[in-house]
Amino acid sequence: MTARLLIVGPQGSGKGTQGVRVGEALGIPVVSTGDVFRANVKDGTELGLQVTSIIDAGDLVPDELTSAVVRDRLGQADAAEGFLLDGYPRNLAQVLHLDEFLEGREESLDAVIALVVPREESLSRLTARAAEQGRADDTEEAIATRLGIYERETAPILDVYGTRGIVDEIDGVGSLDEVTARIFAALEARGITATPAS
Ligand code: ADP
Repeated sequence: MTARLLIVGPQGSGKGTQGVRVGEALGIPVVSTGDVFRANVKDGTELGLQVTSIIDAGDLVPDELTSAVVRDRLGQADAAEGFLLDGYPRNLAQVLHLDEFLEGREESLDAVIALVVPREESLSRLTARAAEQGRADDTEEAIATRLGIYERETAPILDVYGTRGIVDEIDGVGSLDEVTARIFAALEARGITATPAS
């Protein structure tokens, strides 16, 4: 079904995993800026070379560059009928870029899923992930940088979307299935369902 969604949450909130589940259930592509950047780094593209050191330090890639990457991705055919954004927008400048882009297509976001996870829980999950996956930006220093950016720059975007009445705050503590069920309950209340309404 048509749904234009954004999932927001601190590092270690499970937003990547939940985003994929929601995207699959609704049949819409998941656009994760982190994944796009990591794929480019891995493939050694020009974009990848530009962003490697920024990502490893846990800093934000410049807004203009990130927004151009997202516009390009959302311009592809599979995103015409809906998409789930994960990791973008991440600050107020990016919210403006996205607004402008969507307005040009006479579209708007239908819902913003905000995963709420206490800092200590985020930190312990990230430490576990660092041990398992060894992501280059899961060092203690880069994690602290990313969490700080989340609190200062990303959390405020929820106020903007909140005034538009599209934010659903979801308790992100619990099993993966419990959290997924909470997300779908909130989406259903907005008329966004995984199966066509009869
Ligand atoms: P996390 O949420 O754990 O930080 P992501 O996979 O979402 O992981 O992002 C990894 C990195 O990619 C970020 O730390 C940042 O360097 C870059 N990045 C992702 N999304 C954005 C964005 N919207 N703006 C700027 N940089 C971004």
